[in-house]
Amino acid sequence: MQEQTALRDIFVTGLKNAHAMENQALAIMKPQLSRIEKYPEVAARLKTHISETEGQIGRLENILSSMDEDSSTLKDLALSVGGSVAALGHTLAGDEILKNTFASFAFENYEIAAYRSLISLTELGGYAAAKPLLEQNLREEEEMARFLETELPTVTRRFADLSMAGQDASV
Ligand code: MG
Ligand code: FE
Repeated sequence: MQEQTALRDIFVTGLKNAHAMENQALAIMKPQLSRIEKYPEVAARLKTHISETEGQIGRLENILSSMDEDSSTLKDLALSVGGSVAALGHTLAGDEILKNTFASFAFENYEIAAYRSLISLTELGGYAAAKPLLEQNLREEEEMARFLETELPTVTRRFADLSMAGQDASV
């Protein structure tokens, strides 16, 4: 049926975009983690979320292969490079940790929106097996977004304290 084909296309495109988004997430988080020196709580949470993200990529690949779709695309590669460049953009800033926290909060909320959209497509298209996998990814993004939201005042306070003490607070 034509409607079902259209829905399938929307769902598969959404899954591939999410796969690219997650590779971009890794390309942003890994350089951030390697640079952090004075914000150990952020570093620890980033480390956890990097491994969660690898699991998310695995779930997306499972869904894609269950639909006979290949998950390796050139678009992914292009987005990964873009992600590295975006993360690099903050490295010359004296307030790198703050800008990265803002950007990470925005990115997590983008991911939340992407998974909510995909979950609604599982309902529309009857892709019941994919739903719990996408809900797991969504939960991890919501938890990361909540961490960043909660941590922002603490990070800001530490940034201010270090700066007032004449130390390099940037990262
Ligand atoms: Mg993610
Ligand atoms: Fe995330």
